[in-house]
Amino acid sequence: MTELQKLDNLYVANTYARFPIDLVKGEGCLYLDGNGKEYIDLGTGIGVTAFGACDNEWKNAVIGQLDRLQHTSNLYYTEPCANLAKLLCEKTGLKKVFFANSGAEANECAIKVARKYFEDKTGKQGYIITLTNSFHGRTLTTLSATGQDKFHELFNPLTSGFLHADVGDTQKIKSYIAKYPVCAIMIELVQGEGGINALPYDFVQDVYKLCQENDIILVVDEVQTGNGRTGKLYAFEHFDILPDVVTTAKGLGGGLPIGACMIGSKAENVLTFGTHGSTYGGNPVCSAGAISVISRLTPELLKSVEEKGEYIKRELSKAEGVENVTGLGLMLGIKTKKPIKEVVSYCLEKGVLVLTAKDKLRLLPPLNIPFELLEKAVGIIKEALK
Ligand code: PLP
Repeated sequence: MTELQKLDNLYVANTYARFPIDLVKGEGCLYLDGNGKEYIDLGTGIGVTAFGACDNEWKNAVIGQLDRLQHTSNLYYTEPCANLAKLLCEKTGLKKVFFANSGAEANECAIKVARKYFEDKTGKQGYIITLTNSFHGRTLTTLSATGQDKFHELFNPLTSGFLHADVGDTQKIKSYIAKYPVCAIMIELVQGEGGINALPYDFVQDVYKLCQENDIILVVDEVQTGNGRTGKLYAFEHFDILPDVVTTAKGLGGGLPIGACMIGSKAENVLTFGTHGSTYGGNPVCSAGAISVISRLTPELLKSVEEKGEYIKRELSKAEGVENVTGLGLMLGIKTKKPIKEVVSYCLEKGVLVLTAKDKLRLLPPLNIPFELLEKAVGIIKEALK
């Protein structure tokens, strides 16, 4: 164990099972550890560094803003915050943005919007339906939204008012709507932490229609799927829907903490003065980084994300030791025949940073990873799978 690992273990709360690697520097898709060993990054810090480590364009946007102003609080107007909100609304068709600092916080905002929309309309308290195997964050309320019992144990009492249905079980959702005052349905379109499973298109259409017919807020959690990750700016575009609320974080800031809760026309006026807030939300430096990321997600870039995703899928679905490959764009899950721990250890040993999701290998490479590096990394994964 290195001195750094000993120090960290002694003083940092033990909530993470870190890999035994000290990362000290990164450039684009390559990282160096404390011994000078090089790694190809296929994890982007769990879907965050969309354009790789210390990318020049992103860095210049952030440093440019740091030279002007790093923080004002939300008592004042700043250009990056307003410009980022405009960019997101124009690109999505949604109408208003509340900025937070993480995915869980963006989801907290969405939950408040849904509940207040219902209170304003009916004077009643609303229930929210989420899906089994979902993941919506680690705050107590987003844990309650998360449809996995293992996250609920030890933290009771949880926030009440959440109901869970299995993916595909439209009947269950209908029965909840008949029985409870339901204000929202909240879904990930590709369940990320749950194992990189895209929801079936028809099920999403059913949920969308049920929401429209019953004036229920459809919240799509795009914390992981958003910002170009699946080959569309937001994954809802794959499903031909326009949600009422879309939350995102991770890749949005390119490595700085920012979350966004984007609200469509139905609920655009629900949040009013004093009903929500955040000291850091819309921070000018994080917003400048996010403007740089979003501006670069051009149709050409998104097309290349799809193509690289297709390449990985093609190569790995026919590789020895693979049961199947799931996911969209550059958000992929690989069900391996070998125990996942062995596969990951081999990849790390050979200099490829990978992730897991449940019992799958999870790949979230930089969106602009050069093809040659991707080819090299895929070659190493293939060896690992044998
Ligand atoms: N929602 C989804 C779909 C996620 O994948 C995550 C994190 O993995 C979150 C919410 C929570 O985001 P954060 O860790 O930024 O709070």
